Amino acid sequence: MLGVILCKYCGSEIATVDTEKVTIFYSDCKREVCREPGKGRVDE
Ligand SMILES: [Zn+2]
Repeated sequence: MLGVILCKYCGSEIATVDTEKVTIFYSDCKREVCREPGKGRVDE
């Protein structure tokens, strides 16, 4: 099965991993705004 790691701040898919069942993990991506929330918003 497949698990996916999403950024909990911007929702970007960071990586996929093999898991026993479909699972969503939340982490943070490499963007500064996500590593340090409150510093500013993504400018897109
Ligand atoms: Zn992010």
